[in-house]
Amino acid sequence: MSTSSNNKQEQKLPPINLPDSEWKEKLTNEQYRILRKKETEFPGTGEYNKHFETGTYKCAGCGNDLYDSTSKFDSHCGWPAFSSSLGTSVKHEKDADGYREEILCAKCDGHLGHVFEGEGLRDANGKIIQQRHCVNSASLKFAKKN
Ligand SMILES: [Zn+2]
Repeated sequence: MSTSSNNKQEQKLPPINLPDSEWKEKLTNEQYRILRKKETEFPGTGEYNKHFETGTYKCAGCGNDLYDSTSKFDSHCGWPAFSSSLGTSVKHEKDADGYREEILCAKCDGHLGHVFEGEGLRDANGKIIQQRHCVNSASLKFAKKN
């Protein structure tokens, strides 16, 4: 049976902790490299880099709703860029390199990309963007709004 409340229930699931071997089976090689090993896809190659449809970008690892298409903008940096994330679905941590801010899925700890602030970028409406979430396409799965 399918009801419209399914999405809301999904949000309340506890954090996902799978052993590495299970992630390897569940994900494609590219997704595994990026989500679990924190690698970065080549700029300009990602499926969602120039993707501007209406809907929700979910975590490719666990399906957590991460970004709404209304926050997506064209940063010309080669990766999907968002000005904000949905609720508390994305967590921020100091990157291992000691200076960048890493962003991860709050539910499965999958690596998404990095956040940059104060770059003076503007969105399509000319509004200054405070934060640029620079996200790997491989970390995302788009769900089109019907
Ligand atoms: Zn996730």
